[in-house]
Amino acid sequence: MTSSRPILVFDLDDTLYNELSYVRSGLRAVAAFAAAETGADEAALLGLLEAALDEDRSGVFDRAFARAGVRSSRLVRRCVGVYRTHTPTLSLHQAAERCLDRFSDHRTFLVTDGNTTAQARKVAALGLEARFERVFLTWRYGHARSKPSPWCFEKIRALTGARPCDVIYVGDNPSKDFVGLRPLGYGTIRVLTGQHAGRAAAPGHDAELTLPDLDALTRETVSALHGRLAAAHAEEPTP
Ligand SMILES: [Mg+2]
Repeated sequence: MTSSRPILVFDLDDTLYNELSYVRSGLRAVAAFAAAETGADEAALLGLLEAALDEDRSGVFDRAFARAGVRSSRLVRRCVGVYRTHTPTLSLHQAAERCLDRFSDHRTFLVTDGNTTAQARKVAALGLEARFERVFLTWRYGHARSKPSPWCFEKIRALTGARPCDVIYVGDNPSKDFVGLRPLGYGTIRVLTGQHAGRAAAPGHDAELTLPDLDALTRETVSALHGRLAAAHAEEPTP
């Protein structure tokens, strides 16, 4: 028996909003903190941090502070704390706003990896608690339960009584968003937004369906995918 509406589960970073906007928001908080700590010029520090980010996303604080003549691993550690705990200024992709409105009569959940404090602040800044039945921050349950582990998705199934074919995950990252779910019969949809948009998926890692953005996630598209999944599920031999 196919339930009339599938359950939609969304990823957060680069699916619902531009993750780079969070990074830039964090760099502003770090520049203000480090300037107050060291007496360096805040605008100059922010310029160095942004330039370091544009070069490479790893080791941004170390490289920027070294160029500012500040070499302190303690300062870098404290800046990591400032970055993760800062209250970010963020906004949803406009297509995400429209998409969540469009599916407001569906049961919807959020599943996101990452530092629990940082992810919780993003969820709060975007006002997402009120828009989902439940938000799952995977790291709260241990790193082993982050994607591609299906653990949080199995928890959603336990909460809702849904079959895997009634649950569709919408994400952007082909390295981890879909590979743990597809073999179990969940629906998977990739949106080509954010830093992974141009990345080719490794064999077996891509989603069943790829869409340019969340505006393309129409009720018809979701319903057609759900129908296919449910039909495939019905054809599986029962053990
Ligand atoms: Mg993502």
